[in-house]
This record gives sequence, structure tokens and C-alpha cells, in this order.
Amino acid sequence: MARVLVVGGGIAGAAAALALRKAGQDAVVYEAHPDSAEDVGAFLTLAGNGLQALAEIDASDAVTSLGFPLTSMRVVDATGAETAHVPLGEADARLRYRCLRRGELSAALQAEAVRRGVEIVHGARLVSVGDGPEGVTAHFADGGSATGDLLLGADGLHSTVRRATAPTAVPCHAGQRVFYGYTADAPVSDVDETACITMIRGSAVAFGHMTSPGGETSWFARVDADEPLTADEIAHAGPGHWRDLLVPLLRADRTAAADIVASTKAPVLVTDATEIPNGTPWRSGRTLLIGDAAHAASPATGQGASMALEDAVILAKCLRDAPDPESALTLYETLRRPRVEYNTTVSGNISRGTHTPTPRPTGTPPPPRPSDDDITRQLDWSTGLV
Ligand SMILES: Cc1cc2nc3c(=O)[nH]c(=O)nc-3n(C[C@H](O)[C@H](O)[C@H](O)COP(=O)(O)OP(=O)(O)OC[C@H]3O[C@@H](n4cnc5c(N)ncnc54)[C@H](O)[C@@H]3O)c2cc1C
Repeated sequence: MARVLVVGGGIAGAAAALALRKAGQDAVVYEAHPDSAEDVGAFLTLAGNGLQALAEIDASDAVTSLGFPLTSMRVVDATGAETAHVPLGEADARLRYRCLRRGELSAALQAEAVRRGVEIVHGARLVSVGDGPEGVTAHFADGGSATGDLLLGADGLHSTVRRATAPTAVPCHAGQRVFYGYTADAPVSDVDETACITMIRGSAVAFGHMTSPGGETSWFARVDADEPLTADEIAHAGPGHWRDLLVPLLRADRTAAADIVASTKAPVLVTDATEIPNGTPWRSGRTLLIGDAAHAASPATGQGASMALEDAVILAKCLRDAPDPESALTLYETLRRPRVEYNTTVSGNISRGTHTPTPRPTGTPPPPRPSDDDITRQLDWSTGLV
């Protein structure tokens, strides 16, 4: 049994701990946040592949009480006309798309890990990693340290582990900023939008919204931006600043988007679309990056959390099935790199516009489109990987 130090108790880290436990490994999670951080982060949609990953590690029940299911997607153009209305996901309730808060999801996965006997150490902020003959050592801000056989950097977009293992890799701006918010006062739609995500292809803004059974509308807006936000712009934005900036952009179209944003009383939140360049090294000695630390993508495809959940299951299966840890990590990277880099590329191209595609290392071809059947089989816990 390997002792695995998991740095970061977000979606990737908490799910990895659950999957490793199921594969018979000894995982301990070190999370910088002092508590389970339920209030951190925006909402997200979990797709069928992410929900399959959760089902494979017996964690479906831990999340089906969170958020609400989405069973269809409407697409609306700038005139307000519906151009498509398609079913989303599977008939199997466990695999139905869900809208939920990122912080709630990590908190639920952490609670489930603890219930299964995984130790989660809160308030443990990793500051450096040392690799030696006795193992890999995580050093924390409070002066403490821990040594294990493998260290997983699941510490998100601004990963400290990545700075140690791939110091030249720099997250880059993916050409958009993303605004999001919540309102209980959205205008009532004249079409039935129960369990439906509506995507509005506006003239200047890509907008999405969905309403919970309790009547709260979650919305996001992706707006082109050549440069990332500056610290000054964020610090000096007053409470209504982003809302007042967005509403006139949305008023150019005859859709519900402007009224939804105008009805948002709580502050509108904003972040840059940021990605980790394809080709970034994931491994150094006994350290491996997973989740956003390895392959954060622009949020346009809405796949970051689902990719992190896939990472967790497939890594645990590699460690379960390969003859030794070295072959397991090599197999993991062989299986995962094409999958996640395809997502980063597609998502980045949506955000940037295809004229300035997501950069990749010189001379490498674009990643091939992975088959859905392959990923379903790789996630299936009862199927061997070697
Ligand atoms: C606006 C926006 C919308 C999105 N929408 C979607 C969506 O609809 N669907 C979807 O699937 N994905 C979406 N995503 C992406 C998704 O949120 C991420 O891909 C996902 O959260 C990645 O999980 P993670 O565990 O790798 O990283 P994180 O969720 O960032 O977790 C990292 C964890 O590591 C901890 N940590 C950080 N540094 C340290 C340290 N030094 N020591 C110890 N712990 C540390 C953090 O506190 C955190 O708990 C969206 C992202 C954004 C920005």
C-alpha cells in the first residue's frame, strides 16, 4: 500500500482521496483552507462523465442532495428565438447533469472521504516539496511536514506544487472574462425552463442561465477581453460596477439576459478565463499534478470539474492495475493527456475565437478527439486498465 499525500482538498483532491481509498491506497489530504470552505466559488454544471466518475467511486449519493438536475438545454439567438432544445445526459438519474456550487461539491466529497476514514488536515498550506530517497516530503507554512511515496498536486489553477515541478509553466489568459451571479427576482419566462439550462448566443456576450426548483436563477456571461483583469480593476470595482457594465452590452439583444442581470441584487462576481498551456509537465519524481493544477481550461465547455473527477478515478485505477508506481504514472499520463488537452483546446478556441487558438508546444499536432466509449470504459471500475 502506497502512502499518498494529496495537496488540496478541492474537487480533484477530495475525489482522488476517495478513489485511492477504494483502490486500497493510504491517502491523506492537506488543504490550505481552515475549514471545508463550503461558501467558496461559483456554481458549476457537472456533466454525465463527471457523474459517472462519482458513481464509480460510490459517491453519487454524496452529491445528489446538492443543487438540482438539468435534463435539457435550450439554445437561443440574439433575437430571442429558440434555435435548439435538446435533452442533456442520461436517463439514469445518477448520471443526470447537475448544477451546484463548487464549494458545496468539495465539502460533500471531503465529508464522504472522512466518513470512509480518510484523514483531511485543514489549514495545511503547502509551501515546498522535497524529493529524496526516503520518499517525497511536503513542507507546510506552519513549519510542519509529511513524507509519503507519492505526492499529488491537486491545488488548483495557482498551484504551488506546479511551481515546484514545472516552474516555467505559466497560466495564460484565454481571451475572455466570466461574470456570474444569482438572483431570486429574474423575469418569469414564457417557456417552461424547468431543469433546463438556457444558452444565449448574444451579439457580444455568451450567456447562460438556469433556475433551481426553489426559484433562484444562476447565470454566467462570457465577454471577450484581450487582457486579464488588473488587481486595480478588481479592487476598485464598486458593488454595482460589473452589473452596470454588463447590462448595456446585453440590452443590444432581445433576450432575457439583460433583465436577469439587472435583477441581481447581490454583487456580480468576475474572473478571467485562464488555462494551463498544453504540454505543461505533470510529473517530477514522485510528484504528479491533477485537476486544474495540471490542466485548467477556459470554462467555456464546462468540463473542468468533470475532468478533475475523471483524473481521480483513472489515477486510482492505474495505481491499482499497473505492476509498480512508475508504470502506473506513465499509464495515467498516456491515458489522460489527450483527453484533457483536447478539452483545453476546444474550450480555449471557444473563448478566444478560433483565429487565435490555444497555444501548444511548437511542432506538436492538435490533440485527437478522444472517443466517449474509451472514457466510459476507462472510468468503469470493474474494467482493468492493463
Ligand atoms: C467561472 C468558472 C466557471 C466554471 N464552471 C464550470 C462548470 O460549469 N463545470 C465544470 O465542470 N467546471 C467549471 N469550472 C472549472 C472548475 O471549477 C474547476 O475545473 C475545478 O474546480 C477544479 O478542481 P480542482 O480540485 O482541480 O481545483 P480547485 O477547485 O481550485 O481546488 C484546489 C484546492 O487546493 C487548495 N489549495 C490551493 N493551494 C494550496 C496549498 N498551497 N496547499 C494546500 N491546499 C491548497 C485550495 O484551497 C482548494 O481547496 C469553472 C471555473 C470557473 C473559473
